[in-house]
Amino acid sequence: MNVLLLLSLLIFNGIVEAATCIQHSDPLNPSKYTVSNCTSGHPSHSTQSQRHRRDELAFNGTNMFHISFSCYGTDSLSCSRAKNTFITAGEIISSVIRFQKPVTVNATFLPFCSMLDICPTDGRKVIGSAYPAVSHLMTDESDNMTRMYPQALLKQFRHLGEVPNWASFDINAKFDSDINWYFEGTGAVANQQQDFLRIVVHEYIHGLGFLNSWNNYLWNTFQQVDPNCTQFLTPMPISPPNQLQSVYDQAQDADGPQPFWGFVEYPLDKLVKINGTNQWLSKSTMQLNGWGNSNVMFASLDDMYHSWQISNYSNTAYQIYNLSIQPDSLTISNKNFGDICLETSLSPFVVGSSLSHFDNKLYDNTVDYLMVYQADPGLNMQQYVASRGGGPLGPKLLSVLQKLGYDLVLAANSTQPKLIPWQQPKNMVGTTDNPSPSVSYVAALVSTTSSSTPSQTMTVSQAVTGISTTPLSLLITMLAIVSLL
Ligand SMILES: [Zn+2]
Repeated sequence: MNVLLLLSLLIFNGIVEAATCIQHSDPLNPSKYTVSNCTSGHPSHSTQSQRHRRDELAFNGTNMFHISFSCYGTDSLSCSRAKNTFITAGEIISSVIRFQKPVTVNATFLPFCSMLDICPTDGRKVIGSAYPAVSHLMTDESDNMTRMYPQALLKQFRHLGEVPNWASFDINAKFDSDINWYFEGTGAVANQQQDFLRIVVHEYIHGLGFLNSWNNYLWNTFQQVDPNCTQFLTPMPISPPNQLQSVYDQAQDADGPQPFWGFVEYPLDKLVKINGTNQWLSKSTMQLNGWGNSNVMFASLDDMYHSWQISNYSNTAYQIYNLSIQPDSLTISNKNFGDICLETSLSPFVVGSSLSHFDNKLYDNTVDYLMVYQADPGLNMQQYVASRGGGPLGPKLLSVLQKLGYDLVLAANSTQPKLIPWQQPKNMVGTTDNPSPSVSYVAALVSTTSSSTPSQTMTVSQAVTGISTTPLSLLITMLAIVSLL
């Protein structure tokens, strides 16, 4: 039995500006999100963690993970052990990351099948997940790209001119209490037991921002029009906070107008390039956001699909899909420890497993085992540490977290790009600013270039928002899934 770890209003100097937040309320279903305005305030005093590192399991520093724990439908002893594990997992990460601000976790432990109706399917069972509760749309001045910054990460930035009023929780975590978990301090781990601590530390790392935005949501949507549509990947399609409800409602019908507001990345995507080249993944995002200038209302899903097919944008998306299923094709550059290969060996692409992990075959038996997508049962974290060496978080993983903007206990401050809140362009189609945009009709199979007409001009760097046609039934994830076969 293996575990598959799948994965505003701005008030500043008297000026009120809009900033945008993306809420993922259910860590078990990251494809569902809401976009809204968020507010800012004055910078608060930072609470820095003390410099204590632990490679083993004795910790005397400051636990910067603040856990709000809920337990339902489970015996009190298991609840207590689960709570202690959530705390210990925070200590382990606090021992190697020098947090400027605490990380707040909304952790829940409950039986998934009886209370959430999430039961074993096709021999596999979702056993838990942690995911950023809120991400903030921020524009990186170093490359003029806008990305979704998980709140836990954004809190660590030292030079935010405008500081959001942080949402209560940075990370939502939910784990199934029906699993045969191994808890620390309960004797030897049995062959079929999963080490809860290892899974929680892994999932916390996703919650801190170890996430890749590339997914097949749009491909899934287009299958309504063409079930044989060739697979492709795009970054997260997203929608502006002032989208009209009527636009959202009409887009649920394939015959209704379909807005496209662009794709947006996570910060991890900025670090990824095609192995052996200087082509960065972010460049592909930038190219894709040229489609309809990321501000277009197609007459129907059929029109949208044909515009996509006859454009060059689809070729970019096919290329990234093909890379995502070829081993060793996408890497994070690393001068000190060698380039890191992301998980691109799964074919077909598995949302939540592919790209958002270290390559399983390269790193599972190394000190950087933590972020591969599979976890062996019958081994606890102490045994992993003993057999692989180092600490729970390997040097490659720590270097990635540092590149994202986290400061490490045993290193100088990380280099953090200058970030400013994304400013929504005026007159985005289908919003309160532009409620009745002209609709683009696409003459299918007539021309080699798209005949879609953007309803207004928007620069690529501003192209950041989304689409509302993602099928809600899709289960997407950085989930931990246990294979029962
Ligand atoms: Zn994972």
